[in-house]
Amino acid sequence: MSVHPNLIGAERSLAASGDTFVSTMPATGAEVGTFPRSAKVDVDRAVASAKAAFDGWRLTPAPERGAILFRFADILRAHKDELTLLMTQEMGKVAAEAGGDVQEAIDMSLYMAGEGRRLSGQTTPSELRDKFMMSVRMPIGVVGAITPWNFPIAIPSWKLAPALICGNTVVLKPAEDTPLLAQRFVELLHEAGLPDGVVNIVHGFGEEAGDALVRHPDVPVLSFTGSRETGIAVTKAAADNLKHVHLELGGKNAIIVMDDADIDLAVDGIVWSAFGTAGQRCTAASRVIVHRAVYDELQKRLVARVEKLRLGLPWDPDTDIGPLINAAALAKVHSYTEIGLGEGAKLLTGGEPGSSDGFYYRPTVFADVEAGMRIAREEIFGPTTTLIPVGSFEEAIAAANSVEYGLSSSIFTRDVNKAFRAMRDLQAGITYINAGTTGAEVHLPFGGVKGTGNGHREAGQAALDVFTEWKSIYVDYSGKLQRAQIDNQ
Ligand code: ADP
Repeated sequence: MSVHPNLIGAERSLAASGDTFVSTMPATGAEVGTFPRSAKVDVDRAVASAKAAFDGWRLTPAPERGAILFRFADILRAHKDELTLLMTQEMGKVAAEAGGDVQEAIDMSLYMAGEGRRLSGQTTPSELRDKFMMSVRMPIGVVGAITPWNFPIAIPSWKLAPALICGNTVVLKPAEDTPLLAQRFVELLHEAGLPDGVVNIVHGFGEEAGDALVRHPDVPVLSFTGSRETGIAVTKAAADNLKHVHLELGGKNAIIVMDDADIDLAVDGIVWSAFGTAGQRCTAASRVIVHRAVYDELQKRLVARVEKLRLGLPWDPDTDIGPLINAAALAKVHSYTEIGLGEGAKLLTGGEPGSSDGFYYRPTVFADVEAGMRIAREEIFGPTTTLIPVGSFEEAIAAANSVEYGLSSSIFTRDVNKAFRAMRDLQAGITYINAGTTGAEVHLPFGGVKGTGNGHREAGQAALDVFTEWKSIYVDYSGKLQRAQIDNQ
């Protein structure tokens, strides 16, 4: 099989070492493609290419940069079916969700394309006469984007569309489990008219190509989505050069179901949020905190629904749950079933691999879970959820907030007072009322508090803060020296 090359400037090149790795389908093990296993020397070339392209790109008018993103959105739309099918194959999410993943990239590209005619700063009056003041957003330079496999088209778009509209150039190191989708993403960006070198892609492993990108002195901004452990390693490696590091890490998201909730609606929300993408979303609902008054009823209705979910080939329209991404993920998810049983939680359904082919795991529900148990605190990243009974609203909020993560949260209640208290008191970057924990739209900030990140956000206007520096500009047209804080006192 021929090797899909790194795209560096106008060149398509293999790793200098000649090493390669293979991407396979999690559902069947079939090969998807072969890619360069890049190392520092390859990353150095990609960064040099992005650095050389920076001046040309930052001086391109932002509306012109936006026009390329508008074209890119059109091209993505034209390729939506191709990318959707490829995503079911290379990543393994089911077709409806794969289409949603591509749609999110279309939406993000359109949103950021429009930003080309805004990128607003502030103007504000001066305390002195005949003086003008404003702030403008400045691009920073080469952005290192390191992405995971679970949203193989959407997450690159969350990073690249804002980075590009702001005038930065990019080196993308995509996840080693989904390189072909990232490759197609960048090829289509080039098709939209992006100049050579503005976006470069280097394939390879995290500890090799990824680490080289993180440490490269000519990469002042890193945008990383992945595990908490890797996020911490990235932060440490970037510290010596005082890089800007944007992190989007894990979650242990909770849905609260109060005694006044619409139980069928709550079950819909739980099933979608806990088992969509086989639970492999950072916003997945891996905890359900349930008021004791509705605990038995909710268990009954939830298990009945979960047991109807169909495992199968992800490109088959009848499939509800696809495979996990790889053998390590399957082993990790199963190890948490054993941990849960060892901790004394009650296994209601699932708890075992789904078939001998592919990395399937049955949707798993544990009941009688206590907030302090490991299955209720640690990110499992699979189709496992835990039911935690509580006696009051206050206890529910305390349980929800008892984990080290703070990405998404949700409450099902018909009581408007409880809904507003939850909006205020849930420690999370995202709160849903009467909906599950997944379903973010591109024009609001996305990200989390506590161990989920480091204070930055993707999407919406907030993304622009990751990819720009503010410059404050003072224009004195008085013709004389005027001293702020002194001459006007
Ligand atoms: P996951 O558990 O989702 O695979 P990781 O954090 O391991 O999460 O991987 C997310 C991305 O980070 C991938 O592109 C991976 O190659 C990259 N990565 C892993 N380790 C490192 C590292 N030490 N430095 C930079 N990137 C890394």
